[in-house]
Amino acid sequence: MTTPTRPRPKPTPLTEPFWRAAAEGRLVAQRCRGCNTLRHYPRPMCPECHDMRWDWSELSGRGEIHSYVVTHRAFHPFWADRIPYVVATIELEEGLRMVSEMPELTPDEVAIGLPVEVRFEPLDDGIALPVFRLSKSRRG
Ligand SMILES: [Zn+2]
Repeated sequence: MTTPTRPRPKPTPLTEPFWRAAAEGRLVAQRCRGCNTLRHYPRPMCPECHDMRWDWSELSGRGEIHSYVVTHRAFHPFWADRIPYVVATIELEEGLRMVSEMPELTPDEVAIGLPVEVRFEPLDDGIALPVFRLSKSRRG
C-alpha cells in the first residue's frame, strides 16, 4: 500500500502572497488600507469597513492556544496513522486566530493558554505550511 499524499494548499491570486511568504519563513496577514484591521483567512473585502484595498503585514508568529480538539478519526488517509492528534485554534499576539495542527504536542500535553510559535514545514513543491509548536522559551 502506498503512503497517502498529504492534501496540499492550492494558492489562488488572493492567497498566493500568504503562501509565498510562508515559503520564505514569514507569517503574514492582510491589513486593510482603510482602517488598518488585520484579517485572516485572506478575503477581498475588509469585514470591518468594506474597503477592498489591503497590504500584507508580517506577524510575530507568537501566540497561545485559544482552543483545541483531539481528533480520533482521520478526515483523510494521510492522518490515519497519527490519531489521536491535536488541532488547535491559535490566538496570535496581533489578535488574529489561525487553525493549526500541533504535531509536536500530544493530547495529554495540550491545554488552553499554552504559548506557541510558528515554524514552517516545507512540502516538496515550494509550498511551506505554517505549523505551530510550544514556544521555545517555555520548553526549557
Ligand atoms: Zn477596513
